[in-house]
Amino acid sequence: MNKIILKRNKEESILRFHPWVFSGAIHHIEGSPTEGDVVDVHTADNTFIARGHYQIGSIAVRILSFAPDEIDAAFFHAKLTEAINFRKALGLAERSDNNTYRLVHGEGDNLPGLVIDIYGRTAVMQAHSVGMHRCRQLIANALVDVMHGVIDNVYYKSETTLPFKANLQQADGFIVGGSTDNLAVEYGLRFHVDWLKGQKTGFFVDQRENRRLLEQYSQGRSVLNMFCYTGGFSIYAMRGGARLVHSVDSSAKAIELTNQNVELNFPGDTRHEAFADDAFKYLDRMGHQYDLIILDPPAFAKHRDAIHNAMRGYIKINAKAFEKIRPGGLLFTFSCSQAIDKYNFRNAVFTAAAQSKRNVRILHQLTQPADHPINIYHPEGEYLKGLVLYVG
Ligand code: SAH
Repeated sequence: MNKIILKRNKEESILRFHPWVFSGAIHHIEGSPTEGDVVDVHTADNTFIARGHYQIGSIAVRILSFAPDEIDAAFFHAKLTEAINFRKALGLAERSDNNTYRLVHGEGDNLPGLVIDIYGRTAVMQAHSVGMHRCRQLIANALVDVMHGVIDNVYYKSETTLPFKANLQQADGFIVGGSTDNLAVEYGLRFHVDWLKGQKTGFFVDQRENRRLLEQYSQGRSVLNMFCYTGGFSIYAMRGGARLVHSVDSSAKAIELTNQNVELNFPGDTRHEAFADDAFKYLDRMGHQYDLIILDPPAFAKHRDAIHNAMRGYIKINAKAFEKIRPGGLLFTFSCSQAIDKYNFRNAVFTAAAQSKRNVRILHQLTQPADHPINIYHPEGEYLKGLVLYVG
């Protein structure tokens, strides 16, 4: 086994179960691991402390085990069994009104570099590391075995998530089975999921509980769902009794998907209209007709060096919403940028509120749902932040 020997005192975070070894913590490497190999991590005194997938880059090892476990079919079988039992305990799996949930959430499920979302009989699997990429068939087979009778298709969707420099030239496609039945059912609502071209694994599973909360506040309201993508929030608002719902996204494909999903759930319902437009332009031009606004933009800051511009973006869109929302209106505002923490996000929203001089109260502080758990030893895993605000 190739060995990563750490610099002196660089083992502390690993002994506290943090699942990454940064390249700067490495003293030297014994052997010549290639990307994606399983390696052992040793302290400067040559004591074994962890085993994980090796990668070239700032995160050099993603830890799979703090014991010398074999990383084989039985290992993945055990991890996936734990993951499904956890979702069953949450009451998310095996429901007749819901077949959509996240089964594996990377570090949150002690499987760094791996994401698996379940949509009915299909699992969409995404690797973020070369190691997980190399294990893909092993994992897919273990998954079909663990979820026997529930899952018979595994779509592998890693074209955009694998490190570009590894030059793996991976094409997306089914690695188990094959299915064109791509309907996600979420709390009784139905959505077309576009595995082929869609963002993430095709659907934003992480907003499920926040969409359900929005439903409870929608009765009689005029709703603007900005950055609507598949129309998730719009459709919950319609079920919640909204008076009208406008969905906006700059992507024409997203608008088409939203219209399809509205038609699927509320055929012929004239309360809904969708517009392909840029958020900043739409917010500038719109009037004061809305009393419930959702802002769920894409990650404005994908990297630490983009934080400043991202903060400006959050301030700008939220300021527009505060300026235009009707008195007594509700604003559901989100950030999914990992580089912006909840304090920074709240600061951006605070700045925007102050600019508008409106009377603003925080009703709810939202985060990612329980099937996207945060490993307590890996606080970086907390990425989704949301505030529900009452604007007087
Ligand atoms: N709220 C959605 C997820 C939003 S993802 C859900 O619950 O599923 C972010 C969306 O923002 C994408 O669909 C993307 O096309 C859109 N987008 C990105 N930049 C935009 C812009 N400047 N104006 C409007 N939409 C934009």
